[in-house]
Amino acid sequence: MADACDLGSDRAQQMLDDALEHRRYQASRLALDNPYCMDCGEAIPLKRREALPGVECCVDCQAIREHKGVGRG
Ligand SMILES: [Zn+2]
Repeated sequence: MADACDLGSDRAQQMLDDALEHRRYQASRLALDNPYCMDCGEAIPLKRREALPGVECCVDCQAIREHKGVGRG
């Protein structure tokens, strides 16, 4: 027999699960943003990552890439 107390805690648990799910979603999105340069492994400053979502390398390596013409075939 389910009493009111059980139903109430089920509901609270559901809200908690929803909140956790949202947190996890946000965390996984942040994880997709690679914080390290793919070329030299240096940490990419947060400001750069915020300015360029999905940026793969640091300023130095970006300059090198552009100098080499990577991506232009
Ligand atoms: Zn780099």
